[in-house]
Amino acid sequence: MMNNTLKNIEEILLMGPGPSCVPASVYTALSKKTLGHMDPYFIKIMDETKVLLQKVLMTKNNLTLPVSGTGSAGMETCFVNLIEKDDPVLILINGVFGKRMQDLAERLGAKVDTLEFEWGKPVEVERVKEQLKTNSYKIVAVVHAETSTGVRNPVKEIGELVKEKDCLYLVDTVTSLGGIEVATDAWGIDALYSGSQKCLSCPPGLAPATFSAKAVDVIVNRKSKVPNWYLDLSLLTKYWEGKTRVYHHTAPVNMLYALNQALYLIVEEGLENVYRRHLENHKKLVAGLEELGISMLVEPEFRLPMLNSIYIPKGIDDAAGRKELRLKYKIEIGAGLGPLAGKIWRIGLMGHTAHPENVERFMAALKGILKK
Ligand SMILES: *Cc1c(COP(=O)(O)O)cnc(C)c1O
Repeated sequence: MMNNTLKNIEEILLMGPGPSCVPASVYTALSKKTLGHMDPYFIKIMDETKVLLQKVLMTKNNLTLPVSGTGSAGMETCFVNLIEKDDPVLILINGVFGKRMQDLAERLGAKVDTLEFEWGKPVEVERVKEQLKTNSYKIVAVVHAETSTGVRNPVKEIGELVKEKDCLYLVDTVTSLGGIEVATDAWGIDALYSGSQKCLSCPPGLAPATFSAKAVDVIVNRKSKVPNWYLDLSLLTKYWEGKTRVYHHTAPVNMLYALNQALYLIVEEGLENVYRRHLENHKKLVAGLEELGISMLVEPEFRLPMLNSIYIPKGIDDAAGRKELRLKYKIEIGAGLGPLAGKIWRIGLMGHTAHPENVERFMAALKGILKK
């Protein structure tokens, strides 16, 4: 007998900032029989997942793994392994997740410099260039897709500046991975983390991460122990790599089945096709909104296809509008955060959500609430 609360979970169209809609075959993968985390067949699945991750991340990095935990655990893994006390770090900030990076780096005792940009606008490459002319850093960190605003930051261009320096390049690709191009190796990214529940369309719980040889070198040559046992890569690699696997923590076995399947679907569809599908559905949404006179927060050049920030339509109450979408139309969207709270709504078209019928269903619902 199933518990009643679980029995009554409705199917909600997830059009917020994540989690996104999960494909049926990913749910099927999740419900497969649990194997032991040291089982040879499970290790085969881990190895295959790593290869799939390398494909989606466009990297040859050997140290590529899904961290147990959500995107923030991925963020923490990167910072906690790369930073030692008093290390100079530059963080480029134009939204919630850049701010979170700053908080994390400061907790680790890094000497943190920040360059801040208006929320809704991209990081300005020129200002980064100026900053790097007169300062040296161990790490430069930036968020690729700022989910709090819908802005795509120029990660490739910033990478070209960082490449010229003796410095690590750390990028948050939680929302971008599986939705727009993330060319880890070509863009000179040394450390990267993502999350399972955005454009990868897997339930929340895993954080893919990858590290260049240069980053591994920094980790191996640390003077101090990584101050976090659970996320210490020197211990995690003993479980994820090599002939003899050493137990560290019990891997979330079924979540790894789900991630494996979600990555498989992306590779099977083809990365270019996946990016195109996101872009086409984004264009369809924007065209529909413009017809209704609703405008977008972000300039076209820097818009994310998977996260659309729109000004809340005139005459609609922020909370009441979202509540009606959720209760009457069974659609979840996101509210504005920080300085954008009460001003914008965030419409997600992440992963499996990015299909024309979902855009059409959202537009019909929006017209319904506008009519009242
Ligand atoms: C969602 C998100 C995170 C945090 O991920 P969680 O899974 O919520 O821990 C970090 N960075 C960005 C850009 C995100 O969109």
